[in-house]
Amino acid sequence: MTPTTATAHEIAPFRLFDLTVLRTRRLGPSVLRITLGGPGAEGFSGGGRDQSLSILLPRPGQREAVVPAGGGEAWHEKWRALPEGERAVTRSYAVRAQRLRADGSTEVDLDVVLHDAGGPGCRWALAASPGDRLAVLGPTAADNATVRFRPPADTDWVLIRADETALPAAAAALEWLPAGLPARVWLEIPRTEDRQALNTAAKARIRWLVRSEGAVCGVETVRAAELPGGTPYAWIAGEASGVRALHHHLVHERGFGHERVTSSAYWRRGLPEQQA
Ligand SMILES: Cc1cc2nc3c(=O)[nH]c(=O)nc-3n(C[C@H](O)[C@H](O)[C@H](O)COP(=O)(O)OP(=O)(O)OC[C@H]3O[C@@H](n4cnc5c(N)ncnc54)[C@H](O)[C@@H]3O)c2cc1C
Repeated sequence: MTPTTATAHEIAPFRLFDLTVLRTRRLGPSVLRITLGGPGAEGFSGGGRDQSLSILLPRPGQREAVVPAGGGEAWHEKWRALPEGERAVTRSYAVRAQRLRADGSTEVDLDVVLHDAGGPGCRWALAASPGDRLAVLGPTAADNATVRFRPPADTDWVLIRADETALPAAAAALEWLPAGLPARVWLEIPRTEDRQALNTAAKARIRWLVRSEGAVCGVETVRAAELPGGTPYAWIAGEASGVRALHHHLVHERGFGHERVTSSAYWRRGLPEQQA
């Protein structure tokens, strides 16, 4: 197992980037891939796994997002100090992939779920077209503090449970896992055509839970599963109530140590991200 270190976890570098939409591509009925880049991407340093960034969007009537300059820990404080009705709307997305091109330029992929409830993030993605500019608070170190997928060095096997919003992060985490590491993976998606080809060298058993096919997506699916022996590490992300229920199952019914379960509420039904 690749060791992860406490010092790496403490690193929090990120700053403002002025990125350009290079292209968009539908990956399935529910997901749009947006590829960002341009001269403003210099210094962007994606590190894989569940690393995330914040997109910073203008409010209705604004031409540009109102954001503090710079980066680092103080950035959030400065953003909060701006009038609530003026400061940029922020939404979180995983850095699905970063590529360095032959000419030295950088491309960054975000996979955005187009959900029925709408919202500024979803609306921005639907309207995005090549040449659009986007302010992003993004990583300047590959292993910055937004990386939460951190299996301890003694991990014998990994459990991953993600819904469609956490599929980009789960897919990147699967790419990162070492060869041969056993992994049990449940990926929940809205429609059959939202399945994606995933790359991993891990010994992963991947099960797709397709809601349109009537899949049981609650905690029952994992509860019914026979899990490998040995020391686990679990990463759960998606809608808050499902994350909480599975966290409870793993810790209180399966006996996983708290420190061996990373749970992230990516969205909360009925609430916009700033209140979730
Ligand atoms: C660390 C992190 C990483 C994330 N990575 C990704 C990612 O890679 N791709 C991605 O698509 N999302 C990702 N998310 C989730 C995303 O930030 C939320 O879904 C966010 O609410 C979308 O913003 P919005 O403006 O579209 O909707 P909001 O304005 O936040 O919400 C409006 C309404 O939509 C509902 N809603 C929000 N998301 C969904 C959904 N998926 N399905 C149904 N209803 C929804 C809310 O409950 C609310 O009622 C991530 C979240 C976090 C915290």
